[in-house]
Amino acid sequence: MRPLGVYLHIPFCRSKCLYCDFCSVPHADDETVARYVAALCRDIRSYAAACADCEVDSVYFGGGTPTLLPPELLEQLLSAVLETFRVTEAAEITAECNPATGGAAAFSRLRRAGFNRLSIGLQSADARELRALGRLHTYPDFCRTWEQAVSAGFANLSADVMFGIPYQTEESLARTLGQVCALRPQHLSCYALSVEPGTPFGRRGEAALHLPDEESVRRMYLNLIAYLEGQGLAQYEISNFARPGYECRHNLKYWNAEEYLGFGPAAHSDFGGTRSGNAADLRAYLDGTMESERETPGREERMNEYVMLRMRLTAGLDAGAFARRFGQGAEHFLTAFGRFIPGGFVRRTAAGLAFTPEGMLVSNAILSEILDFNA
Ligand code: SF4
Repeated sequence: MRPLGVYLHIPFCRSKCLYCDFCSVPHADDETVARYVAALCRDIRSYAAACADCEVDSVYFGGGTPTLLPPELLEQLLSAVLETFRVTEAAEITAECNPATGGAAAFSRLRRAGFNRLSIGLQSADARELRALGRLHTYPDFCRTWEQAVSAGFANLSADVMFGIPYQTEESLARTLGQVCALRPQHLSCYALSVEPGTPFGRRGEAALHLPDEESVRRMYLNLIAYLEGQGLAQYEISNFARPGYECRHNLKYWNAEEYLGFGPAAHSDFGGTRSGNAADLRAYLDGTMESERETPGREERMNEYVMLRMRLTAGLDAGAFARRFGQGAEHFLTAFGRFIPGGFVRRTAAGLAFTPEGMLVSNAILSEILDFNA
């Protein structure tokens, strides 16, 4: 059986955060949501034959805000997945969630339906920072949601935190992390703010956003890695931290270049040697006219992609795994990355090479210098 991950995109939110360029629409009416769920179920079921030899070990509901949907619709979607694919007993089944969505009854129902992991978007525990991001919730909302999830039986919970955001200081980030860690999360994702064109933040411009300076952001990142390590949350990827055994199985599929199928607008797939990306167009998805870009990368491109993805992990590039996958050695890449060891950006591991925390800060620049993305 081929292991497979399944991603379902839920493109609805209460309102649009000021930095967000994900595919999500605010204030969708009930009819649109119901039509979307029906379309997604049809789409999922159409893959039964193509996936007959696959075994799904992770299902991820991302968004958007999946828990904005009534639990019966999330159940309906999960049923479509369970009825279409062979899903393993121990599969990780995650829903992304925002504070003040879901609730005690909904979480209990989701837990009974088979969901076993929630990823809750806090971003900051500071009221001013949350307002500046355009988030609707407060830190007490997050705590209440967290407690409801624990009471409903979720024993694998993750929180999202952002750094480099408006008005944030090293001290306020440390306070946020301390407050989150007091809840003993199994997993934490810490993302740097990226100001994207086309968002309200992008239109205002970085200079108007009261952002911490570059050196503070650098220290925030290095300090949070050290702090979380001390809290038992080891870094395993540029932006992700977990207690042993709680690394996000679904995201590991992306970084290990394994197969996955994504459903819905803006969802991506890598399946049967073909990569595809759906247009970020909810209307077209509902009308059945959505376009997908498809490509079948050659061997050189796959090698470059594999190295790029693996180098996101603290485990880094494993020379033995590379050789088993591609039938040739990884010397070319090991030599190229090895040039960054004296500067402290890359370190040797037992199996190959990996970025140091300093290297992760500049990983995009190093990767684009070494890898041939047009291979
Ligand atoms: S909750 Fe997430 S997906 Fe929704 S608008 Fe905010 S950042 Fe975007």
